[in-house]
Amino acid sequence: TTTVGILGGGQLARMMALAGASLGLRFLVLDNVKDACAGQFAPMLMGDYTDLQVLGDFMQRIDVATFDFENVPASSAAWLAERKPVYPKPRALAVAQDRLAEKSLFTELGIDVPPYRDIQSLNDLRNAVRDFGMPCILKTRRLGYDGKGQFRIRTEADIQAAWDTLGAQVERTGLILEGFVHFDRELSVIAVRTPSGAFRAWPLTENWHVEGVLSASLAPAPVTPSVHEQALAYARQLADALDYVGVFALELFNIGDRLLANELAPRVHNSGHWTIEGAETSQFENHLRAVLDLPLGATDVRGVSCMLNWIGAMPDPTPILEAQGGHWHDYGKSARAGRKVGHATVRADTPEQLAAVLETVGKQLNRSDQVAPVIDRLRKD
Ligand code: ATP
Ligand code: MG
Ligand code: MG
Repeated sequence: TTTVGILGGGQLARMMALAGASLGLRFLVLDNVKDACAGQFAPMLMGDYTDLQVLGDFMQRIDVATFDFENVPASSAAWLAERKPVYPKPRALAVAQDRLAEKSLFTELGIDVPPYRDIQSLNDLRNAVRDFGMPCILKTRRLGYDGKGQFRIRTEADIQAAWDTLGAQVERTGLILEGFVHFDRELSVIAVRTPSGAFRAWPLTENWHVEGVLSASLAPAPVTPSVHEQALAYARQLADALDYVGVFALELFNIGDRLLANELAPRVHNSGHWTIEGAETSQFENHLRAVLDLPLGATDVRGVSCMLNWIGAMPDPTPILEAQGGHWHDYGKSARAGRKVGHATVRADTPEQLAAVLETVGKQLNRSDQVAPVIDRLRKD
């Protein structure tokens, strides 16, 4: 049997292990906390990601390694890659870990991005804000997720405030200023590529964020065929350029018929959770097929799906369990403010049916605000 090693034991590793069980795979999850939620389904090794003893033990017990989080220390990924196949490869990981490297690559490939500039000092920040105009966003180049490590600059006074908050990070993570994009929609492409270069993408997903954290996703996103083709072409170019292996998400801002790339997530992605029930093959299964160089499964959709994220605490499951096409995912985590603890996917055959179910469950769960933008989109297009 084949054992897949996963660095990081969060919900992504957990859902990977669940998908891999039916493929007859075994897993070993490495995490630095002992109650990591993937540990409920897969053998776990607890230890520091940078400890060579721990990595050595991990390496000997696996056939191939992959990640459930993108901030794996580059040195650990490189050390492992010298000894076992590691997918995505350390170079792709390195690019995706650094917003500056990522945006440089997008630009090189002819993929539009928001205005951006490397920031080394308060003076750089002042100059860049003057050039870009406000609002704009100061972000750490590395280690940010769920909107953490970001400061939105709306007024002159915010410049100093942003520097006071993030300036101390300049050595550790680097900083980047981005112009604010007044997008019509946020989209993501979930795609997968194998070591031999086979490539597939699921239809586009539209995403809604609340305070920088994904709140809801709709797939397929109702976009024009030209936006759809452009987005998928970008994903393919990027995957080929990085010799990427596994699933990744390309996050895009859509304005009219323009697309600007926001970031590349080098892993299975929250905006792809709908593929578990809403597509012929889920992102988790295809990620495993890719890292094992197996044939990829079809990415065709089954009807229309909406994924709702549960942040902080799980709601009452009954309305979703009772709903036509409702599916419940509880990550087995304890409640904590801001934490992703689960999600639900509602699948339907038509946009109108999906809108109707979402309206009902939104009311029952007292979460009409969360479903409102999705219902709006379904009824407008
Ligand atoms: P993730 O959890 O997706 O990895 P992250 O912490 O890496 O998030 P981003 O994706 O850069 O952060 O930003 C989070 C959200 O903030 C975006 O999805 C978008 O809604 C908003 N945002 C980020 N950058 C910009 C921008 N330049 N203009 C407008 N909105 C932005
Ligand atoms: Mg990110
Ligand atoms: Mg993002």
